[in-house]
Amino acid sequence: MCGLGPLVAQFDERIVHERMFDDVDRHGPTLYNFSFMAAQGRFHRSHKSQVTSHPSTLLGTTLSAVEGSQVIRLRAQQAVFGAVFLAILLIISTVLSAQAARRRVSLVVTGGIVVTQNAARQVINPGAVAIDGADIVAVDTPQAIAAGFEASETIDARGQVVLPGLINTHTHAPMVLYRGLADDLALMDWLQKYIFPAEAKTVSPEMVRIGTRLAALEMIESGTTMYADMYYFEEEIAKVTREAGLRGALGQTIIQFPVADAKTPSEALARTEVFIKAFKGDPLIIPAVAPHALYTNDRETLTASSALAKKYDVPLIIHLAETKDEVDVIKKDHQSTPTGYLESLGLIGPKTLVNHAVWVSDEDIEILKRRMPGISHNPESNMKLASGIAPVTKYLKAGLPLGLGTDGAASNNDLDMFEAMRQASFLAKVATNDPTAVPARIALDMATIGGARALGMDKVLGSLEPGKHADLIAVSLSEARQTPVYEPVSHLVYVTRGDDVRTTIVNGKVLMKDRQVRTLNRAAVIADANKFAEKVRAAVR
Ligand SMILES: [Zn+2]
Repeated sequence: MCGLGPLVAQFDERIVHERMFDDVDRHGPTLYNFSFMAAQGRFHRSHKSQVTSHPSTLLGTTLSAVEGSQVIRLRAQQAVFGAVFLAILLIISTVLSAQAARRRVSLVVTGGIVVTQNAARQVINPGAVAIDGADIVAVDTPQAIAAGFEASETIDARGQVVLPGLINTHTHAPMVLYRGLADDLALMDWLQKYIFPAEAKTVSPEMVRIGTRLAALEMIESGTTMYADMYYFEEEIAKVTREAGLRGALGQTIIQFPVADAKTPSEALARTEVFIKAFKGDPLIIPAVAPHALYTNDRETLTASSALAKKYDVPLIIHLAETKDEVDVIKKDHQSTPTGYLESLGLIGPKTLVNHAVWVSDEDIEILKRRMPGISHNPESNMKLASGIAPVTKYLKAGLPLGLGTDGAASNNDLDMFEAMRQASFLAKVATNDPTAVPARIALDMATIGGARALGMDKVLGSLEPGKHADLIAVSLSEARQTPVYEPVSHLVYVTRGDDVRTTIVNGKVLMKDRQVRTLNRAAVIADANKFAEKVRAAVR
């Protein structure tokens, strides 16, 4: 190698680099600008060589000593450029092949503490859930989900808990419009002096639509993804529920006296059949038959309701043994407990959902164990109306499908299932004088997988598992009142509120993200409800 060589080479190299930067400035940093071709063009021009730019031609050319050293230097540069080029190609092909191996899915929720509620009650921290269409396809660590799936939409749930959507097993959705209308009264006074008169004057398809929109907004905002309902004009409730994107087991009410949507029980039964036919098979709506209670329907209406539910294989929803008064009335008229009377009519089985079941004897619990209906426990309503205390610990011991409900907002007065969980736990403790009764994990079970069992849907809902429907929520866990976090399930039950829910997903569809509800116009829903309240005020004046 000649002594001059390196100097000339360095000089040329500087020019080459200047040119390269110049090219980069004008044409952008493409791979082509950094290739040996650009370098060769500068080399040939500076030495007035006639060699072509093709490397194989360059190798066969006789050159001076200086030029020879330049060729060696150039070949080293070529080798470096070539190696870099190949390395970049390798990286790109590796990334592309990795992406090709990842399954494309619609949604991934990642980074939160995932409380699965699966059989092992597994908590993955941090975890992630992959969703495709309406269903969950994987639940794992964020790294595993990122390696296996490519999502169209990703929700960052860091600092949050991700859990199955809450299932409210007992509501009368439109009754949110009677919220706070009359409080601090016994059930019969409350019903007969306020609720029934208000309903007689104001229940209409319009009232039901306005009320259900308000209820749906409240449920989405507080983490409820499915609810079991019983009211009038249930087809309007079903339409609004579907529009809002919620899941519902919705029962058309059948009651002996004339009401807004039916003058007679047979009219109510006919309307129920039309409702069932219209919604059976809907992905979000399960139509149901809902005879109001044993004391508000005669034997004939109750058995006809049961026959209708069996004919279409749909659930039957009924209030049962809610108050001591009910027990007295049924005993007087039918010489049986409400639960015994229900069984004698053939109304009780796995497709039955009984609401409250507060006043039951040990024999009644044996009937429940034999027939395995779903039970909806409504601690807040039972406390507010002083209806009594359901024997929840006995139900749990008996292995009965036990869900949690709020009841209508008029007797609660909200639809917040987090509060219902907390009250279920506290009420069981004070009722049994046992602080270990209904611990946080059991209260959470009641609001998730227990509710799914009570509705006969635990194979498809109630936990975060591959193959189940994608009904889930992400809940903030970083508020002052939630700090520090030792046990997320404890926090969900004892300090979390509906307002802490950030994201609500039903059937794979995001209904609310970062507290922005996507399926309802929040301001319009609240304005319509306030406007309708004027009619309610006038009705009870
Ligand atoms: Zn009720």
